[in-house]
Amino acid sequence: MKLTFLGTAGPDQIPSPFCDCRTCTHARKNRGYDLRKRCSYLINDDLLVDMGADLYAACSMYDISLIDMKYALVTHSHHDHFYAQNIKQRRLGYHHQEILPELLFAAPPSVMTLLDVAAVNDKRIGLKRRPVLPFDTFNMGPYTVTALKATHIPSIGDAVNYIIDDGNKKVLIASDTAVYEEDVWLYMENAELDQLVIECAVGVNTHLEAAQTRHLSVNGVEMMINKMREINAITDHTSIYVTHFTHKHCLPHDEMNAIFKNMGAQCAYDGLILKI
Ligand SMILES: [Zn+2]
Ligand SMILES: [Zn+2]
Ligand SMILES: [Zn+2]
Repeated sequence: MKLTFLGTAGPDQIPSPFCDCRTCTHARKNRGYDLRKRCSYLINDDLLVDMGADLYAACSMYDISLIDMKYALVTHSHHDHFYAQNIKQRRLGYHHQEILPELLFAAPPSVMTLLDVAAVNDKRIGLKRRPVLPFDTFNMGPYTVTALKATHIPSIGDAVNYIIDDGNKKVLIASDTAVYEEDVWLYMENAELDQLVIECAVGVNTHLEAAQTRHLSVNGVEMMINKMREINAITDHTSIYVTHFTHKHCLPHDEMNAIFKNMGAQCAYDGLILKI
């Protein structure tokens, strides 16, 4: 399995255009790993997980064509994960090719509603919808996908995280979420993931309780990793990368990396390609 990180930031990217905090100022000066676009992940060359507002910029920067993309998974309706205008531009007539490959689009109901609000015509953009609810398991071509219930904005209630198995390797992208609720762990026992990608939007702000019903701090990441080890969801062979950073709560890349090193994890960065 190949996993490409197209973006590793939360909703206001790093640096935020409206901020001069230490993390934003450092990113403007240092650039490189410290510049983060809003999140999206490409698995192999045909499955996109989330498609936030920076998708087009990421495709240009990392030489990625989405012509052959067959499958899309969206976790929830926040704009850093799904921006409907991106998919709308797929419509026939806008492009050189005259036939669009079908795009199987799996997402929770609130994301499907965003498609309707944006007046997306499924036929014109070659879209086939597959509504997803927490704990659904389904197939997308060669992939077996399990939707875990995310702990993320309970008032919306349908955010999910996906375990994706390509028949060879298994990855969980645990974003966006706070620490999972008890019923989720049952679905993860003995999962023996090859790759864990986990969010850390609350970063070093470990006392921000309100945010921790929505996202993970470094302490939350450690709790998740420890619990996953305890139930054999991850093993000594599981690679762990952290993603979905926010300038307000997170330190520059090298400083976050030093924190995660003690947990056996590493900071992801935009453009990172993992061969799993
Ligand atoms: Zn997010
Ligand atoms: Zn900032
Ligand atoms: Zn979110």
